[in-house]
Amino acid sequence: MFKYRLLTPGPTPVPEDTLLELARPVPHHRTPEARQILAEVVSGLQYVFQTRNDVLPLTCSGTGAMEAALVHAAPRGAKAICLVAGKFGERWHKLWQAFGVESVAVTVPPGEVVTPEQLEQALRAHPDAVAVCAVHSETSTGVKHDLAALGALVARTEAVFIVDAVSSAGALELRMDDWHIDFLATGSQKALMLPPGLAFVAVSEKGWRAVNRHQPPVFYFDLRKAREKIRENDTPFTPAHTLLRALRKSLQRIRAEGIENIWQRHRRIAQACRAAVQALGLELFARVPAEGLTAVKVPAQVDGQELLRRLEKEYGVKLAGGQDQLKGKIFRIAHMGYIDFFDVLAAIAAIELVLRDMGFPVTLGAGLAAAQKSYASA
Ligand code: PLP
Repeated sequence: MFKYRLLTPGPTPVPEDTLLELARPVPHHRTPEARQILAEVVSGLQYVFQTRNDVLPLTCSGTGAMEAALVHAAPRGAKAICLVAGKFGERWHKLWQAFGVESVAVTVPPGEVVTPEQLEQALRAHPDAVAVCAVHSETSTGVKHDLAALGALVARTEAVFIVDAVSSAGALELRMDDWHIDFLATGSQKALMLPPGLAFVAVSEKGWRAVNRHQPPVFYFDLRKAREKIRENDTPFTPAHTLLRALRKSLQRIRAEGIENIWQRHRRIAQACRAAVQALGLELFARVPAEGLTAVKVPAQVDGQELLRRLEKEYGVKLAGGQDQLKGKIFRIAHMGYIDFFDVLAAIAAIELVLRDMGFPVTLGAGLAAAQKSYASA
């Protein structure tokens, strides 16, 4: 018997006290207590995003928040720039196309990041672009974009900066206000330590000015309505208030540890995980890795899908594979949110055992020792 260990970059494990909130009876949602919860959740998320801007909770997954942000940011017929380093950058591009916005994709090969120089060039070539979209932690390849540098470039223009922080908020250093982010979209099932079902959009003053320049084609995801209501600690429609109540617990946990300590903890575990993987003779996939996950190249002589199947079936360790064209070529070990250093050690131990059984030459314990040494010296 092995415990099931979920080390995927979403969903992620949820702490016990947060889970217990979900087991409590369902109250009504238009009550003083529900308003209090909403107020605490908004303030907790402002802390996580490092912003004083409006934070609007939505009942949907992360993509819903991306769509809500984007449809408010630019009208049909406008032009936007998308920084595409993987599947989620591509999602911005596809969303724009679905809403009749001309999207200029600045695309880099998987494993690479879009650099500030590339964005500068795109802004020069497309001065009429009204928005720039980026993904902070590109979960499909494990890379991290330099939002501070990208945001500073966008801030010099009239365009708004729209960021997918789905797998970064609560794990990676993220400073919405300092980094000039105008729309920030995220979801509940990653480093916020909650099951799937909630998503959030935060909007800056510059962002609201862009919204007010047109009539966004929305009803349910109308962020202007959501803003009016949130000022009374309320929502326009029935919220997933049991999830919000549970989120309050996870946010209390985040406040107790301190967001900067949390960023540091993620850095430390990420470094240890990368050291382990390299000590096993495996290659990292991301050139600039995000701290919430480690993407690893599957060695040529190993069947990547079989590796994942065995890890789960034989040791209860659930990792993620590659998506789309990266299927079978990489695997991804998540270390975000409630996944701790010892969960990562368990995953490394299982990887060593399975690789050995699959005929890949590993010295048992080499990855574990490297991880521990890195962790101890950080
Ligand atoms: N963006 C990133 C970076 C993600 O990792 C994900 C989820 O995997 C999404 C967007 C999409 O979120 P959801 O699946 O919650 O709609």
